[in-house]
Amino acid sequence: MSCIFCRIVAGEIPAEVVAREPEVTAFLDVQPLADGHVLVVPRAHAACVEDLEQAEADALFRAVVRLAGPVREALGAAGTTIGVNNGEATGQTIPHVHVHIVPRWPDDGAGSIHTIFPRRTRRPLGEVAAAIRRVVG
Ligand code: AMP
Ligand code: ZN
Repeated sequence: MSCIFCRIVAGEIPAEVVAREPEVTAFLDVQPLADGHVLVVPRAHAACVEDLEQAEADALFRAVVRLAGPVREALGAAGTTIGVNNGEATGQTIPHVHVHIVPRWPDDGAGSIHTIFPRRTRRPLGEVAAAIRRVVG
């Protein structure tokens, strides 16, 4: 098994695990962006969100909801930024789905999710919505 997160889930390599459920494991990011930076991962290997089975996705997001409050409380944070780098082009470095939960404080110097994008849009909203609706069905 070469996937580092599969190996953490299996207990083969050490991690600071904060919650373990049948379908989900949560552990501290080894290079935290802030104290309390947690990664929540599905037990089964899946590279991207689109590769998750419905039940796996349900369990993953349930765990995120269950952990967000305790992580915030444990660190005395004002909020959490919750995000997924979904695919190599987005900066995903470990191809096993993981949800970042990063505690936030008003003066922590970090921005919102909006600050990572230069807002280089080219197409009108209506055209884009229609294109997506066609594929969603
Ligand atoms: P991403 O860029 O979304 O793929 O994030 C991967 C994250 O995994 C990074 O924040 C790394 O610091 C973290 N990471 C890599 N290896 C480990 C590990 N062995 N234990 C805990 N976190 C890790
Ligand atoms: Zn894996």
